[in-house]
Amino acid sequence: MQTKYDRGDIRRLNAVSALKQLREHGPLSRAQIADKLGLTRATVSAIVADLISASLVSESEYEEGGVGRRGMLLDLNPSCGSMIAVELDIDRVVVVLANLGMKFLWRGEASLSAPVSADEGLRRAGALVENALRRGEELDLPCFGIGVAWAGLVKRATGELAYGPISGWQSVPIKGDWEARFGTPVYVENEAHAGAIAAHHLGMPRGVRDLIYLSLGVGLSSGVFVDGGLLRGSEGYAGQVGHTPFVAEGHLCGCGRKGCWVTEIGASGVLRKLRAEGVHLPDAADSSLDWIPGICEMAQAEDPRVLRVLAEEAKQIGEGLVQLVQVFNPSRVVLGGHLRDILALCEDQIRETLEQRVLYPMGKDVTVIVSASPEDQLKGCLATVFEAVMSNPMPASAR
Ligand SMILES: [Zn+2]
Repeated sequence: MQTKYDRGDIRRLNAVSALKQLREHGPLSRAQIADKLGLTRATVSAIVADLISASLVSESEYEEGGVGRRGMLLDLNPSCGSMIAVELDIDRVVVVLANLGMKFLWRGEASLSAPVSADEGLRRAGALVENALRRGEELDLPCFGIGVAWAGLVKRATGELAYGPISGWQSVPIKGDWEARFGTPVYVENEAHAGAIAAHHLGMPRGVRDLIYLSLGVGLSSGVFVDGGLLRGSEGYAGQVGHTPFVAEGHLCGCGRKGCWVTEIGASGVLRKLRAEGVHLPDAADSSLDWIPGICEMAQAEDPRVLRVLAEEAKQIGEGLVQLVQVFNPSRVVLGGHLRDILALCEDQIRETLEQRVLYPMGKDVTVIVSASPEDQLKGCLATVFEAVMSNPMPASAR
């Protein structure tokens, strides 16, 4: 059957194309947009009128060539609305309100001391979202949507928190509940997928088509971009590399099995090895990540016990990455998550192990970097909302 498009569809697709030109090349004049899209100026004027009335695009006057002729330039309007990002982590929840230009306008945080039930965790997260929405209203910025990053398996079709190997949460229908409660679209992502989205859309350089984002903290998972698209798998669970078997009959994992990769390189593995080296760590280290700055200081002071643990950490990260690089052949690997500062101290050793072990010549062309931002997950949530706005442009108030 032939698909028929009505005039509204075509106008919307043209609006999407015009927005794409503005975000990549803006500011632009109407004539420049018409040239780039191969459309008539009349068509572009009509599209632009829609986008200006939706406040997605703003125009400003400029002088042409210093001869007194005036023209109008168009650009995306970052102040046309707001977006909310929610990082629902194992030990805390962070919520930010941002404008469409990704500028943070408000931030709230609450700690979740383990074990926290899904009801309690979502109650605290929901209260912060309410505060963020209130702040957006005060600033007269209608909300385009809420992006949620969660440290567990997210069912793609329903936006449900399907299973948290560490939190134990199961089948939580957050998308449906929150869309009904807050009246705005809700997009739910696994936290490593959110990190990968940030690395792809906002990394330097932007738009890397084949990349792996490894998120390492208490848990471990990955987000993989293949040929410009996020690899989700049939249900949305792709990338759970933390629970791949790594050591035969190794340490017991939160998932109930033994020897998963995360039991070696995740926070609990690092703590276990530090203690075995005789490094004193308070009991509270097991329930928070406050020990990381102290260990980084000891590494910088070249404490040989800490350096031995970091060398082993780097080797085991590199060895696991070999498998991923050989399967996906990325051009870039980004290491992020709460152990980021520790990874930065053994970045060269990780790279070395990878280069030595990966099949020639795959290691030559892959760049391995530690993320410079502690906010990849939040930015990935915002990028998800932003991409949704760009692909279906209409005013936030009408969504
Ligand atoms: Zn496991």
